[in-house]
Amino acid sequence: MGTLVEFTTHGTGQAQALSAIEAAGSEMQRIENLFSIYGEGSNPVKLFNQSPPGIMQQLPAEVATLLETALKVEKRSGHAFSPTLGALNKLWGFSQTEMPALPPPDGEISELSKASFACLQHGSEGSFSHNGSLCELDFGAIAKGYAIERGMEILQSHGINHAIINAGGDIKVIGTHGERPWKIGIRHPRNSGEVITTIEAAGEISIVTSGDYERYFNHQGRRYHHILDPHSGMPAARARSATIITSNAILADAWSTALFVMGHEGLPLIGKMGMNAILVDGNGRIHYSKNAESRLQPSRSPPMLRTSDIKTDP
Ligand code: ADP
Ligand code: MG
Repeated sequence: MGTLVEFTTHGTGQAQALSAIEAAGSEMQRIENLFSIYGEGSNPVKLFNQSPPGIMQQLPAEVATLLETALKVEKRSGHAFSPTLGALNKLWGFSQTEMPALPPPDGEISELSKASFACLQHGSEGSFSHNGSLCELDFGAIAKGYAIERGMEILQSHGINHAIINAGGDIKVIGTHGERPWKIGIRHPRNSGEVITTIEAAGEISIVTSGDYERYFNHQGRRYHHILDPHSGMPAARARSATIITSNAILADAWSTALFVMGHEGLPLIGKMGMNAILVDGNGRIHYSKNAESRLQPSRSPPMLRTSDIKTDP
């Protein structure tokens, strides 16, 4: 997933914590191997993408379940989120080690964004087909949330009740830090090292941010980044960062990407679903979902904690 993962535990002996973390780390690596469409080696997602069009393929239950969740987010977000942007993402090249220097040709962008639109058919019990080679699954905006969710389940199964998993700023916490809540800083999308706010979290809380500062290049005075608006095939321009705060990390991950694309007009929907959000819009203005503001603390400098500040490995 191109990122460091940091584990923090509290209230458990070191030996127990280390073996729990090792097991959680392997589970997260397994999930990356299962879902990634990049790199060497085969997996069921790559095989599906290479399969002939129009023929139902049985996906492993785990992949089918995450795809079903992704399709619900796609529908509910009015196609701001799409799990079939694989070909378009590869065309842009943001997942390569080296950032591209130029945007791809307009004609190819619009061809691939049209081809990715509603291009899957759902058969019975976890079987799917696609309608052509330009319809490629890409779990880049949801698999990290799933990995965090599973990683936390593994920690808990090893008797850990107080912990943070931080995968490059996508965070889940459980329990507390002793008497105090965990404190999580939300990174400022432009001023690195600064936070826009600090969240006090106790219990099961996921805090996931999608930002335009992770993978991007500048060309002719414009920033091109890795979160694409499926309608245009272009980097989404309505936000600089979108943070979702809710218990489940899978939904937090998927909806942070969806909200990023929707911009602040997506906030009422997030509130309606019972989640909290902080959005930094395209002009740098900060918006909160209904009820979120009262739960959040304005930041003081220096920031108390910057666990969301770990840089991703480019
Ligand atoms: P990050 O991976 O940096 O935490 P996201 O969770 O927002 O950020 O996921 C971005 C990744 O998701 C991209 O690298 C790409 O693989 C994929 N993607 C880009 N735009 C969309 C979108 N509109 N819907 C779903 N997936 C997307
Ligand atoms: Mg996401």
